[in-house]
Amino acid sequence: MTESLYDSYHRQIDYMRISVTDRCNLRCIYCNASTRQHLSHDDILRYEEISRVVRIAAKLGVHSIRLTGGEPTVRPRVAELVSMLRGIAGIKDISMTTNAVNLTEMAQPLKRAGLDRVNISLDTFRPERFAAMCGVGRLDDVLLGIEAARKAGLNPVKTNTVVLRGINDDEVVDFARKSVTDAWNVRFIEEMPLVDNPNGYKLVSVREIKEIIEREMGPMQPYDCPSGGHGPARYYHLGGGGGTIGLIGPVTDCFCDTCNRFRLTADGKLRPCLLREDEVDLKSALRAEASDEEIEALMLRAVAMKQEKHQLDEHIVPHGRNMRQIGG
Ligand code: SAM
Repeated sequence: MTESLYDSYHRQIDYMRISVTDRCNLRCIYCNASTRQHLSHDDILRYEEISRVVRIAAKLGVHSIRLTGGEPTVRPRVAELVSMLRGIAGIKDISMTTNAVNLTEMAQPLKRAGLDRVNISLDTFRPERFAAMCGVGRLDDVLLGIEAARKAGLNPVKTNTVVLRGINDDEVVDFARKSVTDAWNVRFIEEMPLVDNPNGYKLVSVREIKEIIEREMGPMQPYDCPSGGHGPARYYHLGGGGGTIGLIGPVTDCFCDTCNRFRLTADGKLRPCLLREDEVDLKSALRAEASDEEIEALMLRAVAMKQEKHQLDEHIVPHGRNMRQIGG
């Protein structure tokens, strides 16, 4: 029988973000610049181990899974993992966060395997800027990947743009316009301070982003996005377009009070909060042949460890791992 999982602050936890690798084919300046160290093959959870964790989590009431990384599409045979998760009773929604570089080839196989939808990271439409921000000039691959995802029926396709002052903030309107001209679902994310960027000094707040868009394009209408769920974005649309604009403000518009998630890192740690260092070691238990009941107890412990909110307002930033290593 499926249960429901609540943390100590009465938030229902029904969503698990799973990092399948800490490797990435891009080196974005705010995410993946500080270290080239990678986990070894043995350190990373096998697909059978991830599936077992999800099966146990599903019994506790988790019904949404997001695969992330690193870059999830660089892990070999990731579509096989999707199809394993698709077969687990209680899992209703499987999504992926990806940079889309590999989606031209992989969108269809992933859809066939049971992937429902994708969020695609894209910070600029300018090729030289893309190379400067992401370490590699693969903008064309990303744009083709976005089209491939749409054609494959991954729905909705959302884009995620981290807005950095003096770097890509002059493209906010170009992205917003895509929601009108091409029905894109664009989302803007505030830069979170982590080990690569502990001061988050290039942060542009969601309030400022909204002002920039409205100055150019008129009022943004609040929109009750059906696929928004309990996610962190506030959604809007601009008259005349079929797309949406989402604003995600982890720093200045903290949404911890509606948090519904926990994370599984590629090396098998349960992480109750992205922006806190606490972790529960699941991998050791999985490899010591722990029973399902023991794994479940570790999951309950991780959920019980969830704190009310992150500590960015006290300038306490997690220093242990960058976003690529945690699983963004
Ligand atoms: N490689 C995949 C991708 O690019 O979407 C998945 C992993 S990436 C870590 C997930 C998301 O985290 C991306 O949208 C990225 O822009 C975002 N991200 C990484 N570091 C961030 C930071 N410091 N602040 C805000 N968002 C960040």
